[in-house]
Amino acid sequence: MGFQFQKVSTTETNTDQNFVVGGEVEKVKCLIIGSGPAGYTAAIYASRANLSPVLYQGLEPGGQLTTTTEVENFPGYPHGVTGPVMMEDLKAQAERFGAQSRWGIVTSVDLSQRPFKAIVDGSKSIEAETMIIATGATAKYLGLDSEEKFKGSGVSACATCDGFFYKGKNVAVVGGGDTAAEEATYLAGLCKKVYLIIRKDRMRASKAMIERVERTANIEVLYETMTKEIVGSNVVEGAILVQKGQEKHIEIDGFFVAIGHTPQSEIFKAWVNVDEEGYIETIAGTSKTNVPGVFACGDVIDKIYKQAITAAGSGCRAALDAEKFLAEQH
Ligand code: NDP
Repeated sequence: MGFQFQKVSTTETNTDQNFVVGGEVEKVKCLIIGSGPAGYTAAIYASRANLSPVLYQGLEPGGQLTTTTEVENFPGYPHGVTGPVMMEDLKAQAERFGAQSRWGIVTSVDLSQRPFKAIVDGSKSIEAETMIIATGATAKYLGLDSEEKFKGSGVSACATCDGFFYKGKNVAVVGGGDTAAEEATYLAGLCKKVYLIIRKDRMRASKAMIERVERTANIEVLYETMTKEIVGSNVVEGAILVQKGQEKHIEIDGFFVAIGHTPQSEIFKAWVNVDEEGYIETIAGTSKTNVPGVFACGDVIDKIYKQAITAAGSGCRAALDAEKFLAEQH
């Protein structure tokens, strides 16, 4: 590709000697941005395919899973695993095959032509023959101090991940969209009672989902209701709500926030197509974006499933697509 090949050692723990550096600009075959299950799975596949991937971990190394406690639904862990341990395992597996996983945030990109340009932490320049975007999405929270206090001990943004821990108990879900409706009906199958807290006098979810919520006997929908505070000593024990100006106290063990996610696509939007909510659009059945050589995977493309395993699967696709793309260039 006309790059000047030069062996370097980096300040990172894992120094792969195959990647290419020329002058002040580091040149890589495959740059992976993001360190959740999608990014690390892409790194495992890309490194095994000799693409010597360099992965930047971003603002939240390990991604959203590091904020959860037990993960029981990722295949291969029959006794469950904590989110942080699973991410360390994925990282170690990627590094075993030579992927470099580095601290750092990709702060801007230029995807106007190949090699693609990326700036890390506002200063370091990288040129990449292919780029895999695995930056994920961030769950939105209400912004209450008490919510912050109980994150991981009663407050969650993922019913599929954490619902099981509230089997037979009372929980609340906040939000009136499809996610909240799905989470409420999912939790209703596990829990004794589910309060669905909706700030307006109606739900935004699809008609089918609203009907499903209405048909579920152990969901109590509280319209025109806001959450004032989540209460408890060490774990969540209840919440103080305000319904049409009146304070109301509910006893709950779990508080699920389902008010949407923000896909981390901001720096790519000038180049890759995104939908109206900012999710990166990929060509159906592939990880290909509209920019040849740029691939996307994980929660930044997925507003429906948002699971570690679906993200990992799409990371695999992205690496295979990148490998094929590079093979076709020669
Ligand atoms: P949405 O943006 O659709 O809904 C967010 C909900 O949270 C709204 O009801 C909103 O209220 C409420 N909300 C936002 N901020 C606050 C706040 N501060 N306090 C209280 N409530 C708040 O997000 P979703 O995650 O539900 O869905 C995102 C997209 O993904 C949608 O397009 C949805 O259709 C899609 N989706 C599809 C699924 C499927 O097809 N199976 C499953 C899940 C999602 P308000 O209405 O008042 O603004």
